[in-house]
Amino acid sequence: MASQQHEKNEIERLDREYTLGTWTRQADFNPTQIADTEGPRIVTADGDSILDFSSQYVCTSLGYDAERIADAVNEQIRTVPYVNPGWSTEPRARLSEKLAEITPGSLKKTFYSTSGTEANEVAFKIARSYTGKHKILSRYRSYHGATAASLSASGDPRRVVQGPEIQPEVPGMVKGPDPYAYGSSLDPEQSLEYIDEMLGLEGDTVAGVLVEPLVGSNGVLTPPDDYLPRLKEIAHDHGALLICDEVMTGFGRTGEWFASTLYETEPDIITMAKGLTGSYQPLAATTVTEEVAEHFEEHLLNQGHTFSGHPTACAAGLAAIETYEEENLVDRAKEMGAYLKTELEALADRHPSVGERRGVGLHQGIELTRSEEKRVPFERREDKMSGEPTVLNEVGASALSEGVYFYTSVNTIVVTPPLTIDEDDVDEAIAALDVALEISDNAM
Ligand code: PLP
Repeated sequence: MASQQHEKNEIERLDREYTLGTWTRQADFNPTQIADTEGPRIVTADGDSILDFSSQYVCTSLGYDAERIADAVNEQIRTVPYVNPGWSTEPRARLSEKLAEITPGSLKKTFYSTSGTEANEVAFKIARSYTGKHKILSRYRSYHGATAASLSASGDPRRVVQGPEIQPEVPGMVKGPDPYAYGSSLDPEQSLEYIDEMLGLEGDTVAGVLVEPLVGSNGVLTPPDDYLPRLKEIAHDHGALLICDEVMTGFGRTGEWFASTLYETEPDIITMAKGLTGSYQPLAATTVTEEVAEHFEEHLLNQGHTFSGHPTACAAGLAAIETYEEENLVDRAKEMGAYLKTELEALADRHPSVGERRGVGLHQGIELTRSEEKRVPFERREDKMSGEPTVLNEVGASALSEGVYFYTSVNTIVVTPPLTIDEDDVDEAIAALDVALEISDNAM
């Protein structure tokens, strides 16, 4: 079982001493060393084997044993480890062709970067150039990245911190409501009408409407089936492109290659990262339709990165997609997702502090509540950045002490295991949650 208290080893001490940790006060930065991995598990330096039901912020969708990727990366490093993006390499060309094949409809051409954040920034520039407009409309319950424009487009609590951490938002970012029925004053239909009205009130100056088709770190919010197609219609009526941020939901997570397909929608632009290489290499992509790509035949694509289309990362991406295909992991996510859904719903019936189960495929979550009648969160949005432990944190820590790691965020236990899991893994995770949820039940 994963121990929560352990003696700091040399690596943890060095890391603490010389590395600045992400999204944390450094006084709270006390990382545990992961020294090994096996299948869907991470193993600490103390030898604790932890079943990973987070996929590390929804990254390691292929688990930790994808030999094909290791071989492809190794081979590429030994042949062409790097050339600048002005040259052509086989892994980039073949990966771009493959992405055209697996993305919906006429999505065809891809621009590469190294993080989901950058993929979204690139999408903004493309949408602006294509439409000749400048604003980006996104939603309050969203996360799109950490740099100036992507963070400003996010509705995440990380955008609104005040005091010494404050970062001014870039201009031209507009926020609309979410299709979030549970505990919200607007129903999904009203939220669409609101966005329609907003686009008009902005004088049709919005270049792109940016959404996570199925929201991730802001609480695994699932829209009604007709939401995304209707949003696309509304965006197009106002001359804006639909940008789907599939950084979390891409690559089989929902039981389809992309969540846009799940909702029968062809976005004008899709952004992706994480699952693209199963996170064996840092790689992100912005794929656009043939029509949008056509615009750049005559107009400058005024964007580039030294590591755009990095050959080693592209080799990892290609090998990852071949692994999803060969192991039939997209269908598997659908099957295992159905089993997980049944088990999570049974869990919700047993535990009064589970307010709602949401999500599709292996992109699910449970939201906690202090009250069975109405939604009263254990962790409010502002708590996310406060550093103070919440009941949600305690539930996560308890599951970890039972040997299963979950990502907890914005009052929600995010349940996003690698697509390679089996029913026994689900049973193990549910058993850990069963114990952990006693904490929230008792805190009601
Ligand atoms: N978009 C979504 C939906 C995400 O979940 C994330 C990261 O979690 C990002 C964008 C940013 O990606 P990155 O952390 O690779 O910059």
